[in-house]
Amino acid sequence: MINIPKGTKDVLPGQAYKWRYIEDAAREVARVFNLSEIRTPTFEHTELFKRGVGETTDVVNKEMYTFEDKGGRSMTLKPEGTAGAARLFIENGLMSSPMPVKTFYITPAFRYERPQAGRLREFHQFGIEVFGSPSFETDAEVILAASSFLDRLGVSTKLELNSIGCRVCRAEYNKALKNYFAANIDCMCETCRSRLEKNPLRILDCKEEGCKKFIKDAPLITDYLCGECAEHFEGVKSLLTAQGVEFTVNPRIVRGLDYYSKTVFEFVSDEIGAQGTVCGGGRYDGLISDLGAAATPAIGFAAGIERLMLLMENTGANFPEEQKPRIYIAGMDAQTRGAAFKIAAELREKGISAEIDHMNRSVKAQFKYADKLGAQYVAVIGGNELASGVLTVKNMKDGTQAAVKCGELYSYLK
Ligand code: ATP
Ligand code: MG
Repeated sequence: MINIPKGTKDVLPGQAYKWRYIEDAAREVARVFNLSEIRTPTFEHTELFKRGVGETTDVVNKEMYTFEDKGGRSMTLKPEGTAGAARLFIENGLMSSPMPVKTFYITPAFRYERPQAGRLREFHQFGIEVFGSPSFETDAEVILAASSFLDRLGVSTKLELNSIGCRVCRAEYNKALKNYFAANIDCMCETCRSRLEKNPLRILDCKEEGCKKFIKDAPLITDYLCGECAEHFEGVKSLLTAQGVEFTVNPRIVRGLDYYSKTVFEFVSDEIGAQGTVCGGGRYDGLISDLGAAATPAIGFAAGIERLMLLMENTGANFPEEQKPRIYIAGMDAQTRGAAFKIAAELREKGISAEIDHMNRSVKAQFKYADKLGAQYVAVIGGNELASGVLTVKNMKDGTQAAVKCGELYSYLK
């Protein structure tokens, strides 16, 4: 027996409708916010993520599924959606279309992590990426889209907001962090030690208990923002406040990926254990130029679908019911089974879900089976029905019966 790989999940029959429900909500939000769907390959050149996500991140350092293909190229299964979306934007010349270019995607993502509740090796994201606008209205709109998505699903989360500044103010801040952490760096983890020189900001993202106590009192980015970044952040906050979106400023949010600048945010829940961030995002004005194209501002987010599902299940969300067969048509012998087959085929042509027996069951067993399937109506075809062309259609919910002519079955069920 070969088992499922660690950190991956099957979606069983009768479960996928929950996924579809979440995806439908995502697509509905995308529709009203005028976001266009994009799809990128499952694997990309490893270099894209090294440059796009950042060499000092956990994702690139520890978590990537990287392999050499038979042509000797290094490929990586996408660990997130933003780098691929940025590549798509550049490679297809979308920078010459009217800005902003507003996109969304629903994609699997792969990270070699220690599996636990809400942390998988293959997971799925609903992401939005908006390219080309530097304005704070766009930040507020993207955050509003995330908030509207979560509202539609009826989950309650807290929005935490921060600004991590631009390259200018971050240089100052990184200096301050370097000075601050230098005193205790020998007591911190190896990763933090290597980050001190390369990217001290990243230390704030460390999840080691031993490091957290030093991180607690580190200088705050909000004290180092330049005039422009401070003004931008005020703009975002005031638009959100005007829309009645509640948030708290958490100066400790830096996000796990290197490409962020200015606004960063997370929607967090305390109902799903340690992995509480269901949605995270921010502005990444430097990414497009890091990838070698003309500097283009951008902002986006990704929501983890498995974590959302967990949150919805833990808080007793009302998923709509899975679609059941509209009608089950039972035959008794070769001839009437043939008629059942034909009627079912005609109904399906017209868009009515119909089911028949596949297992040579008795009529009694077919009734039982139809009930198990949750069929709304059952019709039995015997010799009389065949001769008269009139079926007795039983409503399985209330037990009532109606005589319906074969030719009128469709309009009866429609
Ligand atoms: P975390 O802090 O949980 O490690 P992250 O900062 O690495 O998250 P992002 O790269 O911003 O996460 O991904 C966006 C969202 O994708 C997360 O908020 C989360 O909901 C989901 N996500 C990230 N990694 C995983 C994973 N291994 N399994 C399931 N969902 C994940
Ligand atoms: Mg992570």
